[in-house]
Amino acid sequence: MISQEPQITPWEAEAFVDYEKLIRIFGAKPLTDNEIELLRKVTGELHLMIRRRIFYSHRDLDKWIEAYISGRRCALYTGRGPSGHTHLGHILPWIFTKWLQDKLGVDLFFQMTDDEKFWHSEEKSYEEINAYAYENILDLAALGLDPRKTHVIIDSEDIAFLYPIAIKIAKKITLSTQKATFGFTDSTNIGMIFYPTLQIAVAYFPTELYGEPTEVLIPAGIDQDPYWRIARDLAPSLGYPKPTQIHCKLLPGLDIGGKMSASKPETAIYTTDPPEIAKQKVMKGYTGGQPTAELQKKLGGNPDICPIYKMYEMIFEEDDKKLNERYYACKTGKLLCGECKAELAERVAQFLKQHQQKREKARDYIEKYLIRTKFEEPRKYRTKR
Ligand code: SF4
Repeated sequence: MISQEPQITPWEAEAFVDYEKLIRIFGAKPLTDNEIELLRKVTGELHLMIRRRIFYSHRDLDKWIEAYISGRRCALYTGRGPSGHTHLGHILPWIFTKWLQDKLGVDLFFQMTDDEKFWHSEEKSYEEINAYAYENILDLAALGLDPRKTHVIIDSEDIAFLYPIAIKIAKKITLSTQKATFGFTDSTNIGMIFYPTLQIAVAYFPTELYGEPTEVLIPAGIDQDPYWRIARDLAPSLGYPKPTQIHCKLLPGLDIGGKMSASKPETAIYTTDPPEIAKQKVMKGYTGGQPTAELQKKLGGNPDICPIYKMYEMIFEEDDKKLNERYYACKTGKLLCGECKAELAERVAQFLKQHQQKREKARDYIEKYLIRTKFEEPRKYRTKR
């Protein structure tokens, strides 16, 4: 287990943590102007999540971009544990991943870890979790990820794609490494203990699929980092390029401190929430404001600890100037929380309305995202297209 605070594992993480400290603990690098300029060179512009350092740390992003520039084969990889419907915290890295895919035209491998979520869940059946994997694919479609370049691997159904790689990984990981990295104990079920081999396997899979070394970039929340540390350590001995990462901060829930989480549904905005319900959640949300309007006008609010502000900053305000104005209007007491929340509630409702329409249309072509509809059996890994 990562012994120093703050505590972050794939299953337990806070949103308002000392992210600089996390970088040091994890041994990653902060995103600097150099990497940002390199990215601008290939994308032509910068996504707000880069400009605002929502994606803020990395491992070898510079090398991945240089590989892309030099014409080496590159791919993206991210994923989802489909334990329920998707909320805004889940789609945050997907929005950025879609932008990267659009700008660079590379394939994305998207893992649905229905096996992991079943092994981890106390309450949900495998069938229920597996059904959510398909529901979550609708969100990828609604965000506009290109089905020709987005290949979804549902672990429990597409295991043949991963298993030949996973067995090689499994042989190299000891139980003590698993315990030290993920905090597993003697009472952890053996499904969970095997599972990391599958999440790591996708990082190597494109190299097998294309039959040439493929540089894989993983945009994901920093809470997933423990997997990638092992993936990088093992890659050379298994003959794969080390996967590279770009880490994002976690979207806070609409209460104090925690990340947006399914364990607190009243503080999470789901993509399937009726827009009116989502509005109510925003209006009931915690803020960094003062207890009364009078005090807010006198003392100002604190946007740095405010989940409402974070929603603007991380997703819902594209314009840097307007975001900055909101920040200072809050600090100086010119903006009241009711007004600020009402505006966000409206933006969230509009987003959901459009997203849900696209989501429903995507039911007609969901299979276009499934890897099994595009590639042959794993030993040949030949494209059907
Ligand atoms: Fe948060 Fe807005 Fe209130 Fe400031 S005015 S504390 S940003 S809700």
